[in-house]
Amino acid sequence: MSSIIERYEAIRSRINTVAAEEKRSPEEILLLAVSKTFPVSAIAELYAHGVRNFGENRAAELCEKAAALPADICWHFIGQLQSNKVRKVVQTCQVIHSVDSSELLERIDRIAGEENKHPAILLEVSVSGEESKGGIPPEKLHDLCLRAAACSHVDLKGFMTMAPLDADEVYTAALFEKLTLLRDEESRLLQKDLPVLSMGMSGDFETAIRHGSTLVRVGTAIFGVR
Ligand SMILES: *Cc1c(COP(=O)(O)O)cnc(C)c1O
Repeated sequence: MSSIIERYEAIRSRINTVAAEEKRSPEEILLLAVSKTFPVSAIAELYAHGVRNFGENRAAELCEKAAALPADICWHFIGQLQSNKVRKVVQTCQVIHSVDSSELLERIDRIAGEENKHPAILLEVSVSGEESKGGIPPEKLHDLCLRAAACSHVDLKGFMTMAPLDADEVYTAALFEKLTLLRDEESRLLQKDLPVLSMGMSGDFETAIRHGSTLVRVGTAIFGVR
């Protein structure tokens, strides 16, 4: 067995263990393989193993890889999305994790309409309120949710966040917990299911699952160091 597949399976089994401890079903947690910077051949190996969800953070790299790989891959865009890259991303991705302004939201919605697409979107929240890392602060979330819910060509599915890289586990856990609470509150206010919480990476996915994550974005722990 190849080491990529071994590592993927090891992560999957750690996810299943935490899910069981939390009395959650492992099927409700998606393992997104973050393949940025790794070659098509590495993705193809996991594809042959049955993996269909891959995450990329650059539009050009995403399009190159998508063109070289089977069409039934579900591509997730997880990077900062520049306005001139929206069309490419909308044409290629089923899920956009990093919507963090009304300008970007409205542009995605308009272009999705033109392209006859209906991407799932997640709003990226900077839970700690530090805007430097991308993501909107919690106090702006409700307004953006209302705008997203009013769009006709995108499907608001939930929220995404990134914990600061230097944060300890207690702080990280508190951020994840807070995003889960924000999701519950928005879901109630909007009277709409917001099933997806994209939280957790190689270093903190177990903490994220303990605090409500339904989608973990794992790169290094599967593919190796970038
Ligand atoms: C690169 C990246 C990941 C994966 O990070 P690892 O630490 O390699 O698992 C997850 N989310 C986002 C937004 C990323 O850019």
